[in-house]
Amino acid sequence: MTSIKITGVEKRFGELLALSDINLAIEKGEFFTLLGPSGCGKTTLLRTIAGFYRQDKGDIWLGGELINDVPAYLRNTGMVFQNYAVFPHMTVYENVAYGLKVRKLPAQEIEKRVKGALRNVHLEGYEARTPDKLSGGQQQRVGLARAMAIEPRVLLFDEPLSNLDAKLRVEMRDEIRAVQKALGITAVYVTHDQEEALVISDRIAVVNFGKIQQVGPPWEIYKNPVNLFVATFVGKINALDVVLGEDLGSGLRRAQAGSLSFAVPSAGTEGCSDAVLAFRPEEVVETADAAGVNRLSGTLVSTAFLGTVVSMELELGGSTIVIERHRPKKGDIPATGNRVEFAVPPESCFIFDKRTGARLRAEEGR
Ligand code: ATP
Repeated sequence: MTSIKITGVEKRFGELLALSDINLAIEKGEFFTLLGPSGCGKTTLLRTIAGFYRQDKGDIWLGGELINDVPAYLRNTGMVFQNYAVFPHMTVYENVAYGLKVRKLPAQEIEKRVKGALRNVHLEGYEARTPDKLSGGQQQRVGLARAMAIEPRVLLFDEPLSNLDAKLRVEMRDEIRAVQKALGITAVYVTHDQEEALVISDRIAVVNFGKIQQVGPPWEIYKNPVNLFVATFVGKINALDVVLGEDLGSGLRRAQAGSLSFAVPSAGTEGCSDAVLAFRPEEVVETADAAGVNRLSGTLVSTAFLGTVVSMELELGGSTIVIERHRPKKGDIPATGNRVEFAVPPESCFIFDKRTGARLRAEEGR
């Protein structure tokens, strides 16, 4: 098991600053995910760890060894690619054995490792097949077995599931995590799929514009985002431009979005007037209790039935707000044009500085 330490890493492609001041400490045996939109630099960071790119500044350590000047083929990392990258003219066995032959391991050892790797990914019995006779999921299993067979110090995954259909993606992500945990191998996983990241990771680094925005366990990233980018990129969220107004007592402050008035937590908002109020659809409570705080009523514009929830888009006071009705029963999908009454609990409200995007909150929450 190998830890990875990255300090002050910067990478440029000509004028473009692809990675800026990256600092990460990935623990032994951890499943660590780089999550961000297309072009944010996550693949560049993965390839820099693998040694395919050389950083312009900063240091990378694998298990305490400074590897800045160690070429890719001597870093002993296993890479699993998006397009599987299996050799089409070789059988499953030959594909998995390839890296071991290159390393000139004895035949007996090669056989032992290939068999073990194929067992790990549930591909026993497929040794003699060529990739054209395998499904996409099976080809990716070959890719995973090949990466594991070399017994790498770390496994690196570059969007390995994005070519698979939705059902297989879910199956494979569970398998990848199970194998990684069973072997106790450190994994760095790149994805732009936030749900995949939440499910598969021990910790996530959210990346945007070549910078790390936040590092934390999935729960922390989702429930405690440090800025507006993280809040909107991970999970669904309502975000309204607001002007912060007077103190309402009890730790609350007025937030005005056009004609809509909210009471929101005041802690940390001192000195800020232009802000963004955000809350997640699942936090909204449907209620007819007229006395509640932040009670609103909107006109239903559209509904989407998602199986476990009905997502409802409401129009009110010039704003659009999405709320959810959970575990819908027959007749729980109202017709558009209906009025829907709901309340937004103040404790579910995130406030962000409109200018910087930084979360404004109580000190102890930091
Ligand atoms: P995606 O999910 O689309 O692969 P990403 O987050 O992995 O995106 P990168 O591939 O790391 O993003 O790219 C980061 C930035 O660096 C992008 O603007 C990209 O165009 C640029 N870039 C990446 N590789 C190179 C290269 N070899 N030469 C020049 N520019 C590059």
